Formats: sequence, structure tokens, C-alpha cells
Amino acid sequence: MDRRHSGGSSAVGPVTTIPALVAERARRYPDAVAIAGPAGRLTFGELAEEVAAVTRAAMASGLEVGDRVGIWAPNSVRWIVTALGMLSAGATLVPISTRLRGAETAEVLARGHARVVCTVQEFLGLDYPRMLAESGRPLPDLEHLILLDDARGEGDADWAISSWEGFLARGIVIGPQSAQERMAEIEPDSISDILFTSGTTGAPKGVLCTHRQSLEVFSQWAEAVTLRPGDRYLLVNPFSHTFGYKAGILACLLRTATMVPMERFDTARALQLIDCERITVLVGPPTLFTDLLAADHDNYMLGSLRLAGTGGATIPTELVRRIREDLRIPYVFTAYGLTESIGVVSICPPDAPTELVAGAVGKALRSSEIRILDGDGKPVEAGEPGEITVKGPNVMLGYLDDPEATAAVIDEDGYLHTGDVGTLDGDGYLRITDRLKDMFIVGGFNAYPAEIERVLMQHPDIDDVAVIGIPDDRLGEVGRAVVVPADGAAADPATIIEWSRSRMAGYKVPREITFVDSLPRNAGGKVLKQRLRDPA
Ligand code: AMP
Repeated sequence: MDRRHSGGSSAVGPVTTIPALVAERARRYPDAVAIAGPAGRLTFGELAEEVAAVTRAAMASGLEVGDRVGIWAPNSVRWIVTALGMLSAGATLVPISTRLRGAETAEVLARGHARVVCTVQEFLGLDYPRMLAESGRPLPDLEHLILLDDARGEGDADWAISSWEGFLARGIVIGPQSAQERMAEIEPDSISDILFTSGTTGAPKGVLCTHRQSLEVFSQWAEAVTLRPGDRYLLVNPFSHTFGYKAGILACLLRTATMVPMERFDTARALQLIDCERITVLVGPPTLFTDLLAADHDNYMLGSLRLAGTGGATIPTELVRRIREDLRIPYVFTAYGLTESIGVVSICPPDAPTELVAGAVGKALRSSEIRILDGDGKPVEAGEPGEITVKGPNVMLGYLDDPEATAAVIDEDGYLHTGDVGTLDGDGYLRITDRLKDMFIVGGFNAYPAEIERVLMQHPDIDDVAVIGIPDDRLGEVGRAVVVPADGAAADPATIIEWSRSRMAGYKVPREITFVDSLPRNAGGKVLKQRLRDPA
């Protein structure tokens, strides 16, 4: 039997590019509040004006349609304005995780062919020399750095460096008419962004997504999770990930909800903001809610919260129950997706019973279809486990410059193979039961052992290494490195962990190191990770 589930047809509406959406919101709801919070308040009308100023400055700086613009900065109002302004000038965004270290960032910039990078003083100051020295990567495409938070003057390095004010001042030579003409040139099916994700091969890969896809997928998402005008949405998830950028910024634009950006998650600060800004919507990985529940939340007024959402990792039933009963948030939804599925495969609606929200990851996005396949690529019976595959507008166009890797995950019929194992019941509810891909999730961040092993192998005291995920009470999972020391090496766990910290994002750094004489391998030389996880 063919295990499929399709949610029916879709409607994108007349707006088919992200810049057109910004302009349309400003025209229809000029006085509605687009952004609020301690850093300031902007209506949709004011947001469109700030966005247009960035667009004019980008055009005056020589940015052409299709140029790649990296954004490597913490969540902020300026991140939002910059991203939308660059998109309106025809750029393709390359958002970069703030957790990446210098060499990791250089790799993404090089692969993404970024011509411009928007960043902050702190990252530039700390990591710019290391970024080049350690990556060994020339960045031939990079011409211009824009500091979102600093008043430093023009250029003193290999690249032109502009302060925010200096950058904006350039725009004076471009008239509003030219900026509008530029916006009209942007095709709905052109690439709006390239989000980088590491894969089982260990190298970061860029996921290509169009304006039309982002809008179609996230208008359905926003509708399914019941985001609505007047909602005040605390944006705690990083804007470099679909969770923050599309399920946050884009979803708010699509539903005329108010964005309240938060630079990085901090429990006490989040509780204060929920109280002061009367937040109604809170979305994040399960750990975010565990942290809020563990904090002294009784001292804050949280009664404005009506909708909580999680995704990115499995959520325990008890946690959903406590969100509803202890935090008194009546509506809780879960979503499942991956960067390659434009962030969304399925959504469990906010009014579903607690057991369903925790046990299942919901139903297929309205205009997409899920099939569960066995090891031979044949559809399985209802309720039987198999690889989750998906087809619809939520399937990426492909990986940047990598047709081979693309062909390995999108089959001839257009189904994306997720690398996750699950079941689909007769009502169309999807449940995740296992993973085919070698990956573990640390507090909502995906860590790929292949990538971590590649870095650890550069350590002089390590002869061989395998990384696995082990359970952790707070973060869900953390990494353990099983190391075969080099001959005569006197490696100790603390030194290896310290060494790793400067070379990889914090969530990838193994929390535990154990030493063995050799790693168990099969005849083909592949490490038997299951045996490392469960020696019995
Ligand atoms: P990313 O590409 O960073 O969005 O990570 C996607 C991966 O995270 C998926 O392939 C899943 O393995 C995992 N994931 C995402 N959402 C969920 C969820 N609701 N429950 C369990 N695992 C999830």
C-alpha cells in the first residue's frame, strides 16, 4: 500500500517575492507595529522606509541582482532591516550562524561566494585574522564588509569596511524610483536565500530556496499554527536558521504580527521581555521551555502568552503538559522539518491533545505529500516505519554547486529523502522513530559527527576518533568523542576539549572524551557506532 499523505492545494496570494510583501504590508497596514522591544519600535510603514534606505545604499555600493550577501550577526532589529533591504536590492542572502568559529565562517563565505558581509565589530575584531589564518581559504569574492553596530570609518583592510552610517549615507545618490524599479526586477522563482547546513559528509552545504517557496511554505505554516495580526512574537531563535528567519521574521510579515527580537536566549531576560512586552507567542526548541520552567517564573506576569511552539527535536509528553499547566499557555504546537525542506515537513496544530503534540510531529504541510519508504525505496504499510520522504513546494531546489549531493537526497520523482525514520498513521499523523543520518541534537542545534571528527583528526595527539551523541538531561543530547590516542601521546580530555573550543561552535564540542585502543569497524572500514553507543 502506498503510504502517502497530501494536504490539498495551496494559495500563495498575489505577493510572490519577499520585497513585495514588505511593500504590501506597509501599504495596507502602515501604522500596525512591525517591530517592538527595548531597541525601538517600528511600524510596518517605518520598516519599509528603513528597508528602502538599505536598498538604495546597496545599489549605490554596486550590488547587482543575484549577488550574495552574508549576514553574520546576532539577532537584532538591524539584522531584519538589513536582510530585507538587501533582498529588495535583488541580493541572495547567506545567513551565517553566530555560533560558527572563524574557520567555519570562512568556509561558508567561500562556498556561498559572498560579495558583501554584514557583521558586527565583535566578530570582526575577534575572528577576522583567525578566519583567514586558520581557514587557509582565500575569499576572492568578498569585496565589502558592513559593520551593523559600529561607527568606524571607511576601509583599512583588504576589503572595504563600512560603518552602518557610512553605508547608509551612500544611498543618497539613488532615487526612490530606481529602488522600486530594482525591486520589480526580482523574479519570484529566483533564489532568495542560501541557508547552510552540514551533512553526513561533514562539509557545509548551501540549500537553495526561492522567494515563492519561502512565502508559500511559511504562509501555510503561519496559518496552521494560528499566528494572527496583533500577536507579539518573541524571536529567540537565531535568524541564521529557518526557525528564526522564516518561522520568525517572515511569518510575522505574512500575518502582520509584531516581532520582538532577542539577541540571544537568556532565561531571565526572556521572562522580563514576556512580561514587559506582553508577548503572546513563544517558539523554540524544547530546551527553551525546560529552562523557563526551571527558572523562577512565578515572579513574572506571563498571562499574555497564548501560543507556544516547538520543533527541531523530540518533545517529551511531560514537557507539553507542564507548558500547558505550569506556564499556562493553552495552545502548544510542534513542527518537524529540515533545512532542505525549507524548514517544514509537518505541523501538529496548537489545539491537539497533549499526547498527540508530544507523540506525533503532525500532518503534512497543506500542499505537500509525505511518503514512508522501506530500504528498497518501496512505500510501507500504514503504521510501519521507514524513511520519511516529502514532495511539494517545501523541497529545496538543490544544494549550491553540488548536483551529486542533490541527486543523493532528491529522487527522480521529486521526493526529498529526509534521513529521518518515522511512521504515518491512517489519519495522516507522522511520528519520528529514528534517524538514518549520523547526527545528534544539542539543545536544538544539530551536530554532525563527521564534521566534528574531521576537525578532531587535526589534533596531533589523536590517531583515530568517532563521535556519538549521548543522552543529557538538559540539552537532550551532547557529544562524546571516542579517541584512539596517537603513539606515545599523553592527551587528556580537558586539553582536547579546550583545543576544540576555538575551532568549532560550542554545541559541537564533545562534553566527554573516552580513550580506546581501537575503534570497532565493519569489513568496509565503517565505524560501528551502534556498538560505541551500546557496548552490550
Ligand atoms: P535542520 O536542518 O537544522 O533544521 O535540522 C533538521 C533535523 O532536525 C531533522 O532532519 C530531524 O532529524 C530533526 N528534527 C527537526 N524537527 C524535529 C522534531 N519536531 N522532532 C524530532 N526531530 C526533529
